[in-house]
Amino acid sequence: MLYDMASRFLAEEIGPRYEDFEKAEMFDRASWQKAGAAGLLCASMPEEYGGAGGTFAHESAIAEAISHVGVDGFGIALHNCIVAPYILHYGSEEQKKRWLPRLASGELIGAIAMSEPGAGSDLQGVKTRAEKDGNQYRLNGSKTFITNGQLANLVIVVAKTDPAQGAKGTSLIIVETDEAEGFERGRNLDKIGLKSNDTSELFFNDVRVPTANLLGHEEGQGFVQLMQQLPQERLLIAAQAIAMIERALAVTVDYVKERKAFGAKVIDFQNTQFKLAELKTEATIGRVFYNDCVTRHLAGGLDTVTASMAKYWLTDLQCKLVDECLQLHGGYGYMNEYPIARMYRDARVQRIYGGTNEIMKLVIARSL
Ligand SMILES: Cc1cc2nc3c(=O)[nH]c(=O)nc-3n(C[C@H](O)[C@H](O)[C@H](O)COP(=O)(O)OP(=O)(O)OC[C@H]3O[C@@H](n4cnc5c(N)ncnc54)[C@H](O)[C@@H]3O)c2cc1C
Repeated sequence: MLYDMASRFLAEEIGPRYEDFEKAEMFDRASWQKAGAAGLLCASMPEEYGGAGGTFAHESAIAEAISHVGVDGFGIALHNCIVAPYILHYGSEEQKKRWLPRLASGELIGAIAMSEPGAGSDLQGVKTRAEKDGNQYRLNGSKTFITNGQLANLVIVVAKTDPAQGAKGTSLIIVETDEAEGFERGRNLDKIGLKSNDTSELFFNDVRVPTANLLGHEEGQGFVQLMQQLPQERLLIAAQAIAMIERALAVTVDYVKERKAFGAKVIDFQNTQFKLAELKTEATIGRVFYNDCVTRHLAGGLDTVTASMAKYWLTDLQCKLVDECLQLHGGYGYMNEYPIARMYRDARVQRIYGGTNEIMKLVIARSL
């Protein structure tokens, strides 16, 4: 029911304006608030904090609806499945009450700022510094590639509270940007895909934040907190992958049944049939694996290694399958008016963010 409701909302409220958002290279706040009013923000947060009291299964239904409808740039899944859970899991009661209801309504738009110009895969190399000064932190540093970076007004910042301690000196600090002097947004970065999703540099120049904005009871917990949340982050990317895989197959099957060449429909060629048979099989394997990961995650047993397998394998499959589907469209597949063209551009980053697929393989290999 939630999937149907989300699909309807996205098709009716977001779909008709999606081209405008792609051109503007960002969404508007009103869409976020409408999504909040429709119950699509913080679906898995407890009701006492303004959420809908659901689980990752509900978040998965929403994330899949986004990709099935084809509005992949609407950044609510990161807000729901990555930003809000940090506050729920590590926030104090006071922090949860302060931030979660406003994230659920769309008054606050969430982002997580880990990556820096000099630290992506190697997050231990983060240079952003949070220095204690009385009951405040002074934040200095710059972040890049931050999803929702132009719109976000609640940013979880990964910073070093004790640089001498390396990973153990890393902490997560919440910055409410509306009232943060010294906070600046850089460019809305010019990407090859996911155009409607704003991705930005963020700068912190002596930004003062209350020490009460630290997530967790003490400093130095940031790396452990990041590691604990990785399985869900990777599973979310896998959800986006399997949903786009299914949409790409559906639009391609429709297309080859219509298009004619050499007096036959493109689906009548054995090459088309074999190619689609292979892709459908792989998509089915992907769906079964994804659903199994969700079942394990709901039972609390999804380990980082399996989540890394899902992220790497499904996003590799996504890129391969979308490429093959584009090929079956011929020249029309290269035209932006055909959905497969946008899928081709949007898919590529899935192998890069959330930990690159090479890093996923490192994690898997370490477990052998
Ligand atoms: C559209 C988009 C949205 C993003 N959103 C966010 C966000 O919201 N928040 C955020 O914090 N970050 C975000 N990122 C950043 C993203 O997580 C990083 O780009 C990613 O982790 C890779 O880091 P990097 O770009 O510095 O690449 P690098 O770490 O420089 O990697 C370059 C290449 O080297 C490979 N490599 C690196 N280390 C190893 C190794 N040990 N073994 C083998 N190969 C290796 C990588 O796999 C890659 O192929 C986003 C990025 C993009 C493009």
